[in-house]
Amino acid sequence: MTTTLERIAPFQNEVIKSFTDPADIAAMRAALATVKATFGKEYPLVIDGKRIETEKKIRSVNPADPSQVVGIVSSASKEQALQAVDAAARAFESWKRLPAHERAGYIFKAAALMRERRFEYDALLVYEVGKSWPEADGDIAEAIDFLEFYAREALRYAQPQPIVPVPGEQNEMVYIPLGVGAVIPPWNFAGAIMAGMTAAAIVAGNTVVLKPSSDSAVVAAWFVDMLTEAGVPNGVVNFIPGSGSEIGDLVVAHPRIRFISFTGSKEVGLHINELAAKPQPGQKWIKRVVAEMGGKDSIVVAADADIDAAVEGVVISAFGFQGQKCSACSRAIVDAAIYDDFVERVRARVAKIAVGDPTDNGNYMGPVVNAGALKSISEYIEIGKREGRLVSGGKRVGETGYFLEPTVIADVAPDARISQEEIFGPVLAIVKANDFDHAIEIANNTEFGLTGSIYTTDERKIERAREDFFVGNLYFNRKSTGALVGAHPFGGFNMSGTDSKAGGRDYLLLFLQAKSMSRKLG
Ligand code: NAP
Ligand code: MG
Repeated sequence: MTTTLERIAPFQNEVIKSFTDPADIAAMRAALATVKATFGKEYPLVIDGKRIETEKKIRSVNPADPSQVVGIVSSASKEQALQAVDAAARAFESWKRLPAHERAGYIFKAAALMRERRFEYDALLVYEVGKSWPEADGDIAEAIDFLEFYAREALRYAQPQPIVPVPGEQNEMVYIPLGVGAVIPPWNFAGAIMAGMTAAAIVAGNTVVLKPSSDSAVVAAWFVDMLTEAGVPNGVVNFIPGSGSEIGDLVVAHPRIRFISFTGSKEVGLHINELAAKPQPGQKWIKRVVAEMGGKDSIVVAADADIDAAVEGVVISAFGFQGQKCSACSRAIVDAAIYDDFVERVRARVAKIAVGDPTDNGNYMGPVVNAGALKSISEYIEIGKREGRLVSGGKRVGETGYFLEPTVIADVAPDARISQEEIFGPVLAIVKANDFDHAIEIANNTEFGLTGSIYTTDERKIERAREDFFVGNLYFNRKSTGALVGAHPFGGFNMSGTDSKAGGRDYLLLFLQAKSMSRKLG
């Protein structure tokens, strides 16, 4: 086993494409055409390897033009969800016994397949969730990274684990899988988070039911097909798209489910945590809940900051993928000494953002994900106009797709709703701080603790932030988004989740338990 890990090249991040290379541009155009030709295709459930068409369907539409149906995905009934859990439980009995290097082998194979089809996956995300080309490629690059990283991690955890020797005893401790898990990802990193959560659970020896987000069920269907192609046996990943509240609750509460791996909103995460805590008749364990939830992320701009760099970092973090990242900057907290200048420079920079159909690589911002998001973000903009001063944007763009202008609201009080609640859209609040201490106090004043960034040239301020800025991912003089697998293990504190770190060395442990064995010698 040790030799297996040593023979594999060390993990390296995929390089995200900037689409300046003409070959990449041509490949992406071709992929957009290829994927467009598959619009309207039907995708079945997959239970125990059987592909099942249902009458009830989820229509996954293009948010840039909702009349375009990207794919029609079968929706699992309650009974089918139960069958999926049974199938996973049966498959667990053999999957858990495979040596780690065999399981890792399937995941390495899946990574290779995904790399081959990278542009098609990128194109699918452009259509299914409205990502720009580089955002889509960043998502797929991260998905490949997760597969490569967690497969290596499974090999590492399969190695002999260090323990203290005792004379007259032969001792060992091994990591074994938990059992059947429910994997419930969001739509916003529809490739990366969905693939990462699924791969981590199965490469560790568990089997799963995967309930994708209804807004991004097609990319999940592609991924499940690709796992089959990579050789992952029947029943290891059972694919049951469907409504979160209907089959989600049923699966989470199922006594045979051993763990739930969830990424999504605070509200749903807390609901799952509560439901999972109640033991059901026949249940033999306390369910483990890994919940990665929302954020209200701040960038602090100190009086001594490089203002141009800060403006760029704030704008990119706030409006990349329309602000629909858990790590998006939704508050800039700016020292009063440079506040007016900063607000004006943000306004000028935001004026240059092109909003429109993301199949056109000239558009930096595409649509928000669905009609519900358009409505709730627009409501927050109205609240924001009352709570502060509208500096840019505020309106819908066009009438077909779910496009919104990048919106900046200044003079927002630290305790205003748009300074406290996750909006999950292209809305930036700017808050004035009296000084740096005040800025840190404001940065910590929400119930969340996911990402944060500080722009400063003063080492003492960096030191202060290292101590006191309470977030899971803290950045200095750079954007608050774009965490890289392995380099920036990702996950937040407080109501941002259960303190897990995706893409870090602790992550696989969340899907394992340790068994200690001691044998008397002589
Ligand atoms: P969401 O509405 O909470 O949905 C997440 C997933 O939960 C979806 O698959 C959803 O299915 C499912 N679901 C809904 N109700 C359920 C229930 N009662 N039982 C079981 N599952 C249920 O979140 P989202 O809109 O997809 O994603 C955006 C949120 O994710 C934001 O809050 C963002 O901050 C957070 N996020 C956090 C991280 C992180 O690392 N901390 C990363 C990415 C995103 P349906 O689609 O069918 O409703
Ligand atoms: Mg949702």
